[in-house]
Amino acid sequence: MAPAGGVLRRVVKTGAAAADRLRAPAPGVVVLLYHRVGTGGSLEIDLPVDLFDEQMASIAGRVVPLGTALEQLSGPSRPSGEPALVVTFDDGTADFVDTALPVLERHRIPATLYLATRFVEEQRELPDDGRPVSWSALSDACTTGLVDIGSHTHEHRLMDRIRDDEICHELDRSIELIQDRLGRPAPDFAYPKAVAGSHAADREVRARFRSAALAGTRANRHGATDPFRLARSPVQRSDGMRYFRRKVDGGMALEDALRSALNRRRYANATS
Ligand SMILES: [Zn+2]
Repeated sequence: MAPAGGVLRRVVKTGAAAADRLRAPAPGVVVLLYHRVGTGGSLEIDLPVDLFDEQMASIAGRVVPLGTALEQLSGPSRPSGEPALVVTFDDGTADFVDTALPVLERHRIPATLYLATRFVEEQRELPDDGRPVSWSALSDACTTGLVDIGSHTHEHRLMDRIRDDEICHELDRSIELIQDRLGRPAPDFAYPKAVAGSHAADREVRARFRSAALAGTRANRHGATDPFRLARSPVQRSDGMRYFRRKVDGGMALEDALRSALNRRRYANATS
């Protein structure tokens, strides 16, 4: 990444933290979003394993499976104590099993992995040299009892710009492959690139899943959360521990507002 990108990122993060000081983030369940761990690149979505380990150590004991969090969120009031956290991963790259899972196991942290199934099924490389995980490695990962598998569509297509029949195919093929190859259902869904779907996509997602995740970088409030518009807080390399802690507390929403404005331009002509 060019130095200018680094400076801009710092300005955004400092600004987002300052905005939180003016208006404290609302409490609730924070769903953390990771992509890659320790693949050795300099991508913002790829965290060094030491940093990931330190982050997991700092939240161990507070993380619950997504299903537990959804139950808590549907209740009228929040349970006593610190709000729960959820750890999620998107896409299905090999580092999830090779690098992230040993850390999760060490700290006994459950996680949901949202799979874009075509890349796993055909062993196709994901963008930015993303080596896909294999079904057999995933099958082993599931035996730890810590991993839940969700759908992230079949081909990672943006759900606001495809035809209705393509929407159904993206969802059904992905559900079918997870059931076939891993012998388990995929009850939860995450929109590719956290781009919300069309009305038709929203309808088809609600018909097939119990939850759907977007971005948002804020906490989900108890008794006031649509489980099909779950907010997630993407964790980036440059968050370090400092901004990670703010995200764990439901902060840094301004970063998401800027990210989604930027992405509207960046993905204007994209399809996946
Ligand atoms: Zn993705």
